[in-house]
Amino acid sequence: MTNIHNLGFPRIGEQRSLKVALEQYWQGLMSQQDLLRTGIKLRKHHWRLQEKAGLDHLPVGDFSWYDHVLDTSVMLGAIPERFGWQGGEVDLNTYFRMARGRAPSGDQVAACEMTKWFDTNYHYIVPELNRHQQFSLSSNKLFDEVHEAQARGVAARPVILGPLSFLWLGKVRGEVFDKLDLLERLIPIYAEIFTRLQQQGVEWIQIDEPILVLDLDHAWQQAFRTCYTKLADQRPQLLLTTYFGGLRDNLELACSLPVEGLHLDAVRACHEVDKVARSLADGRVLSVGCVDGRNIWRNDLRNTLDMLKPLHAQLGSRLWLAPSCSLLHVPLDVQWETEMDSEIRSWLAFARQKLDELAVLRQALDDGEDSVSDALEQASQAIASRRCSERVYRPEVRQRVQTMHSEMESRQSPYTERARQQQEWLKLPCYPTTTIGSFPQTQAIRSRRRQFRKGELDAAEYRAFMQAEIEQVIRVQEEIGLDVLVHGEPERNDMVEYFGEQLEGFAFTSHGWVQSYGSRCVKPPIIYGDVVRSAPMTVDWICYAQSLTDKPVKGMLTGPVTILNWSFVRDDQRQSDTCLQIALALRDEVHDLEAAGIRIIQVDEAALREGLPLRKDDWEEYLEWAVRSFRITVSGVDDATQIHTHMCYSDFNDIMPSIAAMDADVITIETSRSDMELLDAFESFEYPNAIGPGVYDIHSPNVPTLEHILYLMQQAGRRIQAERLWVNPDCGLKTRGWKEVTEALRIMVAAAEELRSSAAHTCHFATC
Ligand code: GLN
Ligand code: ZN
Repeated sequence: MTNIHNLGFPRIGEQRSLKVALEQYWQGLMSQQDLLRTGIKLRKHHWRLQEKAGLDHLPVGDFSWYDHVLDTSVMLGAIPERFGWQGGEVDLNTYFRMARGRAPSGDQVAACEMTKWFDTNYHYIVPELNRHQQFSLSSNKLFDEVHEAQARGVAARPVILGPLSFLWLGKVRGEVFDKLDLLERLIPIYAEIFTRLQQQGVEWIQIDEPILVLDLDHAWQQAFRTCYTKLADQRPQLLLTTYFGGLRDNLELACSLPVEGLHLDAVRACHEVDKVARSLADGRVLSVGCVDGRNIWRNDLRNTLDMLKPLHAQLGSRLWLAPSCSLLHVPLDVQWETEMDSEIRSWLAFARQKLDELAVLRQALDDGEDSVSDALEQASQAIASRRCSERVYRPEVRQRVQTMHSEMESRQSPYTERARQQQEWLKLPCYPTTTIGSFPQTQAIRSRRRQFRKGELDAAEYRAFMQAEIEQVIRVQEEIGLDVLVHGEPERNDMVEYFGEQLEGFAFTSHGWVQSYGSRCVKPPIIYGDVVRSAPMTVDWICYAQSLTDKPVKGMLTGPVTILNWSFVRDDQRQSDTCLQIALALRDEVHDLEAAGIRIIQVDEAALREGLPLRKDDWEEYLEWAVRSFRITVSGVDDATQIHTHMCYSDFNDIMPSIAAMDADVITIETSRSDMELLDAFESFEYPNAIGPGVYDIHSPNVPTLEHILYLMQQAGRRIQAERLWVNPDCGLKTRGWKEVTEALRIMVAAAEELRSSAAHTCHFATC
């Protein structure tokens, strides 16, 4: 009999009940006991759902109050000193202070860093490791949850992040050292965990080592061998799980480790399945991740069966089936999408549906396809309907892509000539000042948007309200003395959703929440079809803003790569093709803005870098189409039209040539937290165009001082010529309050003025 199982279940619960409880607890409105009760209820419910789907063992320990990597740090006693932990069981408030800097009790303290989990939009809390790091088993959460599951009769399979992946994801603090030096100290703690679990009667442990899909050097590969050899005895059986990609040069290593089972992401690495099946020693289990845990499309069950049947014949009961990775990255249940178009809904499978797909696959293998012919037929029909739906294929889009020519990818003149023409009409002072787009999104703005959505506000009332907002934003910027103004983006709920909602080919869920970090969830749009822009999306608002002022107003768009990377994407064509379609739609918007007299246009590519493939070998191909898509978006304009782009990071070291190849006239980036150290990349690579390194950290409520901004600009000036520098905040201001924003921008403008007066003699700007 074929085993079916799951690597992890979404934690946030129906109606995001975990989010609600956590936020109440943080605000002191819920007791710890009630919070703990919420956890028990959620876990019970999630186990019940998975049992109902017929899984043979259920993941336990995948539930987390905030993040599973933080859970691991806490379990291993890797608690940075500033949290004042004295040993013993780490309490929940220390845990939350590590996650977010504060908890209902305990001092406020700098939270641990947060960063993206592989190539997903989930953020984990980065472990901090120092040279003298000690580890000790410091949490009973996992054992308690195993106990809790067993008491309910659940076939519990604990999930643990493996020691190598834990170390890899950690960040060295203090004196520099090789993180692998800590492995020796870590292994005994893992051994202790295994022993405890064995004593609890656990048969299988799922040990996640996703770094096996990354580029590992010899030392790390060797460390895998040493570590798992040392952990080979006196423990429950280990299912070593890898996901988010193929094993490639780590394949032999993964297959040779002394564990009892190996999980492979057969969605992203279906071509490796046979090889892994052949390479695994006798008796070992192969868990095939054959249902996509990263996307929301229904499985092509017949196709999947074609892959599985030979494996079933070869491996028998040693073949297990699972989603490709934890289901953390998909929404919970498509049944709640009652408002979605029923045809589109029939194409989708969320977490619960994916488990049902596993059950069908198993039955087809064990009892023959006839036993599930209806389910197979339904899946095939859904796939077929998607394949030939008129909503998916739009001949006019296909035609346009086919007739594209290379001139569409380049501006008419090189940057220096464009800059000259732009400056001729812009007449900007040196160190021009601007912002990134959004201004504070007040409660009033949010509630008006909501009312409009619900039909409680008519279009004219809505428009009048938004225009008043825009006017206020313009007046404030004029009064502060900024050089290039923005309209403030009050009409936008989210920088991707706003565009997705106006483009054809996108669908939206009403309950499709996915955890982004802690209690924060997002509802990614679903790109299901060819992308068509049926009408201008931003022109009205921006032109209204421009009509109020003589200063230039910058048009604001989200770039094609960012829209793609923050959505669930099509699996029936290459991502590069989808990106190109979005680029063409945005190109039309750029064109319309320009035609309406908007001569500075910013195309945000906040997510370009995070879309980088996990393997370096794949970077070039990605960067090539990502940069091309950006260029196609912006290159239709006149030389005198100034193109800006914005990126929420500036760690460009590896990809500097690609950033330069985007050929934006001005790029604004995030740098203020690092004292401009992140600009080091600009020292070794001469970036050819203009740059606005962020001087105001918008992630903090603090107002920067004049001296600090001057200091940051001086640092920037050491790496970049003064006449190429702009002065701006790190990112959009939408999460900040009006008071701090106006104060900060005033100081920023004062700093620019001071720079101008001291730099006048060196600056080449005609107007200076
Ligand atoms: N223009 C957007 C804003 O200001 C950019 C946001 C972002 O980069 N994340 O809000
Ligand atoms: Zn940003």
